[in-house]
Amino acid sequence: MEIKHDHHAHSGNYSPGGNSCQYIVVHNTGGPSGAYNEAEYAQNNQHPNSYHYVLDGTDCYQILDDTDTAWAVGAWAGARQLIRNNQSISIEVCSDGTEFTGAEKEQLRELVGILMERHGIDADHVVRHYDCHTGHKLCPQYYSLNPDAWEELKAYITTEGEEVSPEEITAAVAAGINMQEYVQRCGSSAPIAQVRNDGGEVYRLYNEGSGDHIFTTKDEADALAKSGWEMEGIAWTAPAGGTKPVYRLYNAGSGDHMLTANYAEANELYKAGWSYEGVPFFASGEGQAVHRLYNPNGGDHMLTASEAERDSLEAAGWTYEGVAFNA
Ligand SMILES: [Zn+2]
Repeated sequence: MEIKHDHHAHSGNYSPGGNSCQYIVVHNTGGPSGAYNEAEYAQNNQHPNSYHYVLDGTDCYQILDDTDTAWAVGAWAGARQLIRNNQSISIEVCSDGTEFTGAEKEQLRELVGILMERHGIDADHVVRHYDCHTGHKLCPQYYSLNPDAWEELKAYITTEGEEVSPEEITAAVAAGINMQEYVQRCGSSAPIAQVRNDGGEVYRLYNEGSGDHIFTTKDEADALAKSGWEMEGIAWTAPAGGTKPVYRLYNAGSGDHMLTANYAEANELYKAGWSYEGVPFFASGEGQAVHRLYNPNGGDHMLTASEAERDSLEAAGWTYEGVAFNA
């Protein structure tokens, strides 16, 4: 990500220096302008607030040094200050107060990762403007009104391990390293399962007893077929050398297996009591779209690379949950 430095906050809008950089504070601008226009405005107008970074999913501008003190989180009269301007780096996301877009989340995650590493800030010190004083400003609005969504976003933007480089994968597979390493890096704990990214056909099997579909590579598919699962055929082909781990989780209550390439989602499910079964295969992030559907009657999650099947399941009452990953 390129961080642009061709704009600077108006000299009347902040205090130079003095910031101990202990916290990262996430805001939304609350309006429709993009990062360029926001940076222009902050440079050309004197008004009593400021920030360090502004991003819109495409561009990111830094308009103050991290160690400058922005006027961003001050409490209003009657509210008690919990996190001060001179302790925090403020990031504005150009958003009208609704959920951040995928591109904004990704860019925010990259910037937060850079700042956490640069200043030795841990995930507990990544906060909303909402958290900075007892007046609880509704900023960023969507994530102030939806604490669960904030927890999910925070897990995502403070996690470094979702994208694993091809070199790391090659080394991990050669060394027989298991998923535990990746999970530990993400600050959680989960049972050990093997990582493999040698690709190959992914098989779909069905368990008539539980009404569950499972997707797995050849070895496990063969074993499941012997133990009574019905082989339904090849669902898609996983790429050799894929870099996006696909996590599998299991709900012992409903008997449902679920796959996701979204680490934050996997971690949320794990925390909600699903068992973590590891990474049966990897996705490339660029291949064929694999769609996820949910059956509100049986509680089963289903994946299909066929748009026709997706459409017919949706017509039959399944809920379409979007593209789970690109094989
Ligand atoms: Zn704010």
